[in-house]
Amino acid sequence: MKPEFEQLSPHILLMHATHETDRPIVAAIMGERRTLLMDAGNSPAHAALFREELSRRGYRQPDLLALTHWHWDHSFGMSGWNLPAVAHSGTAGMLAHLAGLDWSDECLDTLIAEGILNGDSAEHIRKEYGDPKKIQIIQPDIVFSDQLVIDLGGITCELRHVGGDHTADSCILHVKEDDILFLGDALGPSVYGGPRRYSSSEFLRLLGIAYGYEAQWYVESHDRPMSNEAFRAELRSWERLARVVDVFGNDRERVALEIKGYLKLDQLPEDLLKGIEYFMAGAQ
Ligand SMILES: [Zn+2]
Repeated sequence: MKPEFEQLSPHILLMHATHETDRPIVAAIMGERRTLLMDAGNSPAHAALFREELSRRGYRQPDLLALTHWHWDHSFGMSGWNLPAVAHSGTAGMLAHLAGLDWSDECLDTLIAEGILNGDSAEHIRKEYGDPKKIQIIQPDIVFSDQLVIDLGGITCELRHVGGDHTADSCILHVKEDDILFLGDALGPSVYGGPRRYSSSEFLRLLGIAYGYEAQWYVESHDRPMSNEAFRAELRSWERLARVVDVFGNDRERVALEIKGYLKLDQLPEDLLKGIEYFMAGAQ
């Protein structure tokens, strides 16, 4: 599938996510002195597509890489870049654990059993790599625990650890001058180790952080960039769902009833029905 590129702002070029092998967004943030790469891609092949596009446009290649979290689809492209990499200490810890593995079929099965992968991601890995034994894990060079500011020359990037249901090491990246917030997968549910789960309190905490930036653009790694208004419109029913779960816990019927009433619908759309299941799993 041909990748799509978008110049989101004067200083940011991104490559859109594709879903066939779960490739997330990769972005270059270009200051006067340095270019920062946001996430490495899910493989060296994925990384190469972005590098080629930067060359084609005559843009500076990245000088530095920042990871949003350890998940394979965001970090396994590191070996395709050979860049100094910045990551949260939790990200570094998980990558150190994964670096010692042989990526055989048995290894993938063990990781699924341990809740470090799931069946879908193992399938995506096989499809992306052909032979997963080619996977090469690279360790980050610069490790932080709370937040880190990177000055690219006229462009300031603030990396902030937020954690949450998706992963404990999730970080967001705010490009101050262009007013763009990269959310990684921080607003997503927990995806490994059992059914997908959301806890209402964590979801609302993260939403509060994201809204607090009042960014011009919000970028979730597996979605299209959204304007502030579009982001709030998209999250409105999810926020309500989380608030209802906060009050009624795992009372599925009551939660569904409240949301139907709020949205004035007899039948909830598919994504919200799934959402209810994620919150029910998290409210157990
Ligand atoms: Zn993820």
